[in-house]
Amino acid sequence: ASTIVWLRDDLRLDDNPALAAAAALPDPVTVVYILDEHSPGIRPLGAAARWWLHHSLSALGASLEARGSRLLLRRGAAASAIEELAAETGAGRLFWNRRYGQPERSIDAGVKEWAAGQGIEATSFQANLLFEPWTVRTGSGGPYKVFTPFWRTCLAGAEPRLPADPPDHLPQPAAGTSGRPPAGDRLDSWRLLPRRPDWSGGLAAAWTPGEDGAHERLEDFLDGPVEDYGKGRDLPGVEGTSRLSPHLRFGEISPFRVWHSLREQFPRHAPADVGIFRSELGWREFCWQLLYENPDLATQNYRREFDHFAWQTPSDAELEAWQQGRTGYPLVDAGMRQLWQTGWMHNRVRMAAASFLVKNMLADWRVGEAWFWDTLVDADAANNPANWQWVAGSGADASPYFRIFNPVTQSKKFDAGGSYLRGYVPELADLDDRTVHEPWKNPSAAPGYPEPLVGLQESRERALETYQRLKEG
Ligand code: FAD
Repeated sequence: ASTIVWLRDDLRLDDNPALAAAAALPDPVTVVYILDEHSPGIRPLGAAARWWLHHSLSALGASLEARGSRLLLRRGAAASAIEELAAETGAGRLFWNRRYGQPERSIDAGVKEWAAGQGIEATSFQANLLFEPWTVRTGSGGPYKVFTPFWRTCLAGAEPRLPADPPDHLPQPAAGTSGRPPAGDRLDSWRLLPRRPDWSGGLAAAWTPGEDGAHERLEDFLDGPVEDYGKGRDLPGVEGTSRLSPHLRFGEISPFRVWHSLREQFPRHAPADVGIFRSELGWREFCWQLLYENPDLATQNYRREFDHFAWQTPSDAELEAWQQGRTGYPLVDAGMRQLWQTGWMHNRVRMAAASFLVKNMLADWRVGEAWFWDTLVDADAANNPANWQWVAGSGADASPYFRIFNPVTQSKKFDAGGSYLRGYVPELADLDDRTVHEPWKNPSAAPGYPEPLVGLQESRERALETYQRLKEG
């Protein structure tokens, strides 16, 4: 009997346990990816993620072909697509790597049950989280609500397993009823890429989707930035972070591979920077445990008292000013333009831009979460809502509401020379290193750059008063 390997957010050959288990058997293997826009509860991908997915699938298809296999593309509700494929190929086994969102888990549980009824062996593997949510529990058996003890417990347990190298060769695909391998969709027919207008040029210049691109990023990071990560990660003007986020999001690189590459490079006495970087991987694990426990993290306040917060609905013009990077605050604008051009924004700037929207503009965090979901190449079902709620103060282990990022102080501190600001906001090119942070002090030198959308002081006070009213009920 043949095996079906059902790939989802694990678009890689390296350290892919489901694929490796199938490759170790003598039988044919059908490797399938299903674009599921039909099953209940599945959040449709944003536009930047669709662009990424297209290129990632294309890269994966090519590397499967180079190893004697191919990637079958199907579209529709995943459960029925799998059932049809199993019938076509007479599969006796079905392997996949586990996912942790609620709608996805219920699809997988349904497929498992169906397979059992058919006498098909369905096996799932751990591939995309170092610590699966149900394995990290407090002393009383519940989930952690605070990051530090969560991560301490993770680190106190067994070391994450070693990654497995990619198979050199894969079994050929199973024949369908016609005697030939089952037919799939052409990737182009899915229309994942933007057409008119095609805004993806900046994304293509910034990224190489696929696992080769992921491994290059990891090597570049280990070659230098990692040793200064503690400082470098705060500076948006330098490449001080790994930029692995979209690759991790689509499973083009295994977190086990990242973990053990750090171990190999620093077998003993790793600098503190390595520990800080590891704990960022830990935040990813924590966010996924939050989503696992709170399936509606993207739509519901984690702290329900925020249901009564008096958010203000921004006008279309105000919202567009934020989205397009025309708020008049250079750090926020540089970040929002970086996001629009490249599909990614530096973490420190994400915090400042998000804080500006939810606190200075007093907009509901869900408005910002939705825009990031559509425009980030790393838009992640757990990390995005968890971080937005962290900034808004409504989340688990959140930044307290009264902590309001000041975009001017932040940019003076973390982009002192203004190179990041000028790089994304060309209107600021002629301002000196001091006024580049406060262009309203010399507006004639920044023609075309907007006036501040709101005053920092008064909007800050308005936010704190609104919060006070919430606390007083
Ligand atoms: P590095 O600093 O190199 O970190 C390595 C990896 O650790 C990242 O690739 C990521 O997987 C993980 N990580 C780092 N910081 C965080 C964090 N705060 N929370 C969870 N995981 C983290 N990250 C996403 O992956 N997807 C999102 O949709 C997303 N939305 C965000 C929204 C807001 C408002 C904010 C403030 C942060 C968001 N982040 C998100 C977290 C963080 O900004 C990015 O993970 C990081 O900037 C990615 O760059 P990097 O790969 O160079 O990170």
